[in-house]
Amino acid sequence: MPERKYDRILRIAKSRGFMWPSSEIYGGIGGFFDYGPLGSLLKQNIENKWREIFIIREGMSEIETPTLMPESVFLASGHIDHFDDPLVECKKCQENYRADHIVEEKLEISTDAMGVKELQKLISENKIKCKCGGTFSEVWAFNLMFKSEAGAGKIKRDVYLRPETAQGMFVAFDRLYQVGRKKLPMGVCQIGRSFRNEISPRQGMIRLREFTQAEAEIFYNPRKKEHPKFSRIKNHILPLYTEKYQEEERKEVLEMTVEDAVKDGVIASQLQAYYLVLAEKFFEEIGIPRSKMRCRQQLSDERAHYSSETWDIEILSEDFGWVEVAAIADRTDYDVSRHAATSRKKLEVHDEGEKFIPHVMEASFGIDRPFYCLLEQSFVEEEDRTYFKFTSEMAPIKAGIFPLVKKDGLPEKAEEIFSDLIKNKIIVKYDSGGSIGKRYARFDEIGTPYCITVDHDTLEDGKVTIRKRDTTEQEYCKTEDIVEKLKV
Ligand SMILES: [Zn+2]
Repeated sequence: MPERKYDRILRIAKSRGFMWPSSEIYGGIGGFFDYGPLGSLLKQNIENKWREIFIIREGMSEIETPTLMPESVFLASGHIDHFDDPLVECKKCQENYRADHIVEEKLEISTDAMGVKELQKLISENKIKCKCGGTFSEVWAFNLMFKSEAGAGKIKRDVYLRPETAQGMFVAFDRLYQVGRKKLPMGVCQIGRSFRNEISPRQGMIRLREFTQAEAEIFYNPRKKEHPKFSRIKNHILPLYTEKYQEEERKEVLEMTVEDAVKDGVIASQLQAYYLVLAEKFFEEIGIPRSKMRCRQQLSDERAHYSSETWDIEILSEDFGWVEVAAIADRTDYDVSRHAATSRKKLEVHDEGEKFIPHVMEASFGIDRPFYCLLEQSFVEEEDRTYFKFTSEMAPIKAGIFPLVKKDGLPEKAEEIFSDLIKNKIIVKYDSGGSIGKRYARFDEIGTPYCITVDHDTLEDGKVTIRKRDTTEQEYCKTEDIVEKLKV
């Protein structure tokens, strides 16, 4: 079998320090990855783009809440009762499997909406057995949260690692509402780690047990589902893979303006449409081509327990097919109502003489999956070189600075340029090892858009050679213009 693109990318990612399996010296553990020096920079660039859109342009507030939360939070949120996968155990080899995966593989049918009972029935009726020949136990619901304890003795409390950052924002709603001077709509964001105890995370970077989310929760008055800036985006065309298209097993998407989509009821509200456009913009700005994205409406039977309507943003991956990278979900008043009821606190708002529990529109993004998708979309394999064609904004290292030779005052001049660039907060690397060709190759491989060479002419005329990664074109540039040049 030819090596998958995923494996080729991962090989470079590991050797050059984007990422690698966590706790590797002990054999690693599925679903956990370390971000290396370059990976951390790239991930921060992705997160900062998200911040630029949601915090700076949209004016939302960012908060940070703990990853461990008490059991009561998740009893109220429904995660203790509903956040699970159906499992079976082989009675012979004791291996655990996702019951839905077993049925899908053996019967080649979709199990998306099936509950424990239905899966049980199919396994029994079709006498589905384990690879080892053993029979399976009854199907049971396995909760996907990691459980732990805080404290000891009498004051010990059950705690869980959060499965989404959202709950931290919901339970702090009243505090946020006061701080925000009691105004709706109110957008609150959080970027942080979340955890899901996936049974067999076979898809590497795509299915992680510990991952980073960027979530925006917009608390709104349910009678006001318009968005004040809707007119700015109304002519934008979205590729919509509607519930109807999926039922008809069509392959293409429905291209329509958001204005028409809302008017025709394809997208339920202006508010939801607005954040779908924003999500697409985010992915486009980090470097995912629009042609590789679609908005897929979740089917009514696959939606999370809290959602009335959800659209996923998906990116097409060569090895993993359509990968969900974000979801815009109307969570209604589900979360705030449940927390109000469970905590017995009044979590009401007053808006234009009305008293009510706010509804929430959620724009929830993974960061790790887009990280991988960006590597994949940027990866270029040419006959004599490979490189990541990251935008200047995303590239972990913006430029390499090379003295042509290690003598004649060239290193001193190159170091001077290097210092000038870092003073401008531009991340650059100095490299004087090996031939210029080898240095180009090293910096291409990690997606550095520019290489700057200082040669003997530089000492005479103050000009350096800037070589562009994608075209390998070279141009002369005055040293004082380098900063401006690197911004493009
Ligand atoms: Zn078995």
